Amino acid sequence: MWVKIPFIVAGMALALCGGARAEACGPQKLGVSRTILVGAPVHVGLKTYPRTLDLKDHEIVLTFDDGPAPATNRVLAALEAQCARATFFLIGRNAAAMPALVRREIADGDTVGSHSYNHPILPSLPLARAVANIEAGAAAVDKASGGKASRFFRFPGFADSPALLAALDKTNRPVFGADLWASDWNAMTPREELDLLMGRLRRAGGGIVLLHDSKRETADILPDFLAALKAEGFHIVALAPGDVPPALRKAPSGWKSETEETLRKMGIGGGKGAAPKIDVPLQEQKDPANRM
Ligand SMILES: [Zn+2]
Repeated sequence: MWVKIPFIVAGMALALCGGARAEACGPQKLGVSRTILVGAPVHVGLKTYPRTLDLKDHEIVLTFDDGPAPATNRVLAALEAQCARATFFLIGRNAAAMPALVRREIADGDTVGSHSYNHPILPSLPLARAVANIEAGAAAVDKASGGKASRFFRFPGFADSPALLAALDKTNRPVFGADLWASDWNAMTPREELDLLMGRLRRAGGGIVLLHDSKRETADILPDFLAALKAEGFHIVALAPGDVPPALRKAPSGWKSETEETLRKMGIGGGKGAAPKIDVPLQEQKDPANRM
């Protein structure tokens, strides 16, 4: 009989905790307004693709790339303080090195996807090596997450190719681009980064936002950024794995792929030009387009 006591006590503690947390996550916090379920095949994000998630005005999806990293702790604390949720696209090698942070993301209710094993520009590799890098990254992230990672994927530097997209479709991996970003790969003060990001968000009215939890400045601005989102009436939409593609919205007429234009100038993609061999971790890269 006595062995049941710890369970009862634990249950009471959980109930108390849940109550306190529900109160802490009241209407004064940013919170999460709804969740979109996403299944493959799908490629979304207006910076790269002519379609995105069917978000309403002032709805935003927070995404963070290139972690986990030391600054991830502060990013998670800021999200938790506002009861907000995000999707993290992790570099496999970083996830293997810092599994405790991956488990914290899962425990916090965030969604975890992958972003290659070591952040190469994938179309510059032979196809089989590129696919193997994607798979190794996803496997490392899934292992670090305790088997709780999603199949969501984002290309390093948004550098895709038709063959790689087909491989991801075949292996049931939804592909995420972004609708806007903070350009947090450029040197800026936190104030400049916050002003730039809020200015872009006000003009766009919402969308899939790309940030980097590997960047100290981004961790610095996050509490103020989330407070500004709440103050200006933005709503957080969370993402979770689904069985079918989500509702989509087409790009406006005259749309152009901004990331493909950048990559073409670098000689990557479109099957033209000499593709540079870039196979270094994000922190060592110099070119902004390789830091996405
Ligand atoms: Zn990246």
